[in-house]
Amino acid sequence: MSCDLTTLAVAGVRGLRPYQPGKPIEDLERELGIRDPIKLASNENPLGPSPLAVQAMQGALGAVSRYPDGNGRALKRALAQRLGVGEECVTLGNGSNDILELVARAFLGPGSEAVISEHAFAVYPIVIQAVGAKARVARPNAPAHAMPYGHDLQAMSALVNEHTRVVFVANPNNPTGTWLEGQALKAFLDALPDTTLCVIDEAYLEYVLEPAYPDAVAWLGDHPRLIVTRTFSKIYGLAGVRAGYGISHPQVADLLNRVRQPFNCNSLAQRAALAALDDEGHVSRSRELNAAGLAQLSRACEERGLGHIPSVANFLCIELARPAPPVYEALLREAVIVRPMDNYALPNHLRVTVGTPAQNTRLIQALDRVLGT
Ligand SMILES: *Cc1c(COP(=O)(O)O)cnc(C)c1O
Repeated sequence: MSCDLTTLAVAGVRGLRPYQPGKPIEDLERELGIRDPIKLASNENPLGPSPLAVQAMQGALGAVSRYPDGNGRALKRALAQRLGVGEECVTLGNGSNDILELVARAFLGPGSEAVISEHAFAVYPIVIQAVGAKARVARPNAPAHAMPYGHDLQAMSALVNEHTRVVFVANPNNPTGTWLEGQALKAFLDALPDTTLCVIDEAYLEYVLEPAYPDAVAWLGDHPRLIVTRTFSKIYGLAGVRAGYGISHPQVADLLNRVRQPFNCNSLAQRAALAALDDEGHVSRSRELNAAGLAQLSRACEERGLGHIPSVANFLCIELARPAPPVYEALLREAVIVRPMDNYALPNHLRVTVGTPAQNTRLIQALDRVLGT
């Protein structure tokens, strides 16, 4: 009996393609027999986690037979204090991807729409379509713009209508590394209708050094439909344990809480995140290393006549003026894992995560061998 099980899935899921993560180091070692590769593919912190976070997790290992604190009290309290908001404004997630999905489940469904930009984070269209809502994709900034391929807020505004329940804005955006100034983003937010929520995804906030870069949490008082998402996966170096959070009006947090899995933020993640928050030295070292690495990589591109999108995050999108997937494959054989951007509609771009100075040098030398530069 032949049966196509995909016909049994809900319509939104039938049309989905799964998220494509960066290639794990173990896969490259196994598939190509390559020893000691470096992975600059998933915007992970090359310094690793804070030693305080590792210690905190080690101290909590013996208690993993117990369920986590489903309310995440201690972590929520620490975050609320730090951000100057009430604890009831904080929602913890299994990474901030979890918060994005909770937003979709609470506010989107068949008949409603969400607005995103082209070349924005790939998880947005997935969570929108999975719940049967329609993703409306705004044209991005032109390649010659100061923020090439970045969010065009006017184009996004133009797609907002009475069916729009959510707008997703990544600031800075992944994979472009482009960012939005406070004034422009605030004006965009002010102009949204009362029936539209706005997610501002600040996964890379801690890396940004631009004075005009806004802290969207400060707008929550005036904007009850704003949801800011942040994560411990990037500068805090805790991508593997999965901790992220949303900050919103308490009523929005209450709605997210209704669809949340009771124990979505595990006990090790809660302990690690709490300890990581206190290690400000680790965060500033990570930020400084990143600024130096971004400069090193941008300079290397310029010296070789390679274009790149200006980035304020911990990665750089390099323009090769030729299809990037074969270059990505050749770099794998050079034991360097990066990300081709063809699935982000940027077929000639490679996204590389900023590594340590030695890793950046290895990447540049491998690129020279592959490109013949
Ligand atoms: C990495 C990233 C996230 C965070 O993902 P986690 O689930 O917290 O690991 C969120 N948004 C963007 C744009 C990202 O690049």
